[in-house]
Amino acid sequence: MSEEKSLNFIEEIIEEDLKNGKYRSVITRFPPEPNGYLHLGHASSICLNFGLTLKYGGYTNLRFDDTNPVTEETEYVESIKEDVKWLGFEWKNELYASDYFPVLYNYAIQLIKKQLAYVDDSTSEEIAALKGTPTEPGKNSPYRERTVEENLDLFERMKKGEFADGSKTLRAKIDMAHPNMLMRDPVLYRIKHAHHHRTGDEWCIYPMYDFAHGQSDSIEEVTHSICTLEFVPHRELYDWLIEQLEIFPSKQYEFARRNLTYTITSKRKLLQLVNEKYVDGWDDPRMTTISGMRRRGYTPESIRDFCDRIGVAKRENIVDMSLLEYCVREHLNKIALRRMAVLDPVKLTITNYPAGQVEEVYSENNPEEENGGGTRALPFSGSLWIEREDFMEVPAKKWFRLAPGAMVRLKSAYIVKCEDFIKDENGMVTEIKCSYLPESKSGNDTSGIHVKGTIHWISADHAAKAEVRLYDRLFKVENPADEEDFTSYINPDSLHIIPNAYIEPSLSTAAPGEKFQFIRKGYFTPDKYSTPGKLIFNRTVTLRDTWAKESKK
Ligand code: ATP
Ligand code: MG
Repeated sequence: MSEEKSLNFIEEIIEEDLKNGKYRSVITRFPPEPNGYLHLGHASSICLNFGLTLKYGGYTNLRFDDTNPVTEETEYVESIKEDVKWLGFEWKNELYASDYFPVLYNYAIQLIKKQLAYVDDSTSEEIAALKGTPTEPGKNSPYRERTVEENLDLFERMKKGEFADGSKTLRAKIDMAHPNMLMRDPVLYRIKHAHHHRTGDEWCIYPMYDFAHGQSDSIEEVTHSICTLEFVPHRELYDWLIEQLEIFPSKQYEFARRNLTYTITSKRKLLQLVNEKYVDGWDDPRMTTISGMRRRGYTPESIRDFCDRIGVAKRENIVDMSLLEYCVREHLNKIALRRMAVLDPVKLTITNYPAGQVEEVYSENNPEEENGGGTRALPFSGSLWIEREDFMEVPAKKWFRLAPGAMVRLKSAYIVKCEDFIKDENGMVTEIKCSYLPESKSGNDTSGIHVKGTIHWISADHAAKAEVRLYDRLFKVENPADEEDFTSYINPDSLHIIPNAYIEPSLSTAAPGEKFQFIRKGYFTPDKYSTPGKLIFNRTVTLRDTWAKESKK
């Protein structure tokens, strides 16, 4: 974070609170519901919550908001932990809202005793019917005036499992005419005879979000509980419950959800893409889940940089995907090893290169580093693969690559001149014949000839093979989340597989997690299923923003 950067509105609040001595240090939490994998929107929340306590001292808890037994799974808990760690953050405590079930139960009893909660036998339809509307007051439930004793007895029997799902609830007794609909006797507990991923069958009553979240914050003495804007109307209830229970005064602050163009940031919709097999699992490299981005070759640094750049806002907006791609390009440019790979090969034969000769040439690993990040040796011979697109039979204007009679430099090797080419019966070029200038070797070029184009190549006898996967955006429209049938906007060409690309031999031991720039082709990383016997590379991102150019055409 740069020093001059102005404070965001949450930082302003925190600085004020610290100055006034309201809190001694800052405690935040990241509270995912373990019902899916984390996505880029969560990354933004993680960076915000952890970033604040890194900046101001204090700590951040990882709290699983696992109060709904039906949708939560241990697999999700594990993936969430892995993703937060991978992003580079350390939580102080790993906590589960379900661990607070006994405390929350006691809080409920306290409210009953204060005549601030009651057991209601109404069905959810009956409750809804008496709720009123934003402009009309609601009506009191016929069960609202039950005595404390009766409520205590019924609530205990709810817990013991005497009643069926949906037959009773515990409601706060606030005000059925309250202008905030959420304050009209909100449900605090519901009956659900369901197995919970941690508490098993111990409970058959489960607290509602509003009776779990703020209370959990308070139990952990969270000072600044940050959530997204849809919780603004809940804040009044959040404060009311904490006040009535006379517990630690956590405070809720809201910021705008982060959305990104051409993708989805909603677990429910991402789950649908997985279940309906539009993608190859939660970590499909086209998914903007953290695990998908990791598999695709994004770095934690680039995601943190992105989150930092988009900052926090009070109003919903949609961030351009190109910014994320810019951030990853910036970082990979600094760290990725430069390598050669030919994705669409055509043969190039050097007719005057001594038959059978092989020599080593040296190429920089990373020109962004001092001394080019060191060099590596590459075998060079008279029989090479080059990119088909680097040859034009009839050259266009300002074409600096190969064409009949034209000269080009082979990266880190020699200047070659195209003498001839061969086509098959379909008019497809099958071989390009060149001569080379032996005195033009890179690093020791005495030819005096200057050429404008440089192309990459692989020695045919030394090339390793790999499958290369090129990705495009998963959706054809800017904001698929707005479309009800969002799956019909899936880009049918979001994955392009090249089964047999030629790669330089040093790549044959590349392992998942390593980052490469295939020069002139983009940034690549071995897929999680890549092995030395079957190499697979994912393209993380192209070298330039080709998409912006496309859309301006
Ligand atoms: P989803 O709609 O994808 O299920 P959620 O808000 O229900 O998201 P949770 O697991 O409840 O997911 O969220 C954990 C935290 O991450 C919450 O504090 C939530 O506000 C935050 N969060 C989730 N999505 C976004 C987003 N798109 N932008 C910013 N913060 C988000
Ligand atoms: Mg949620």
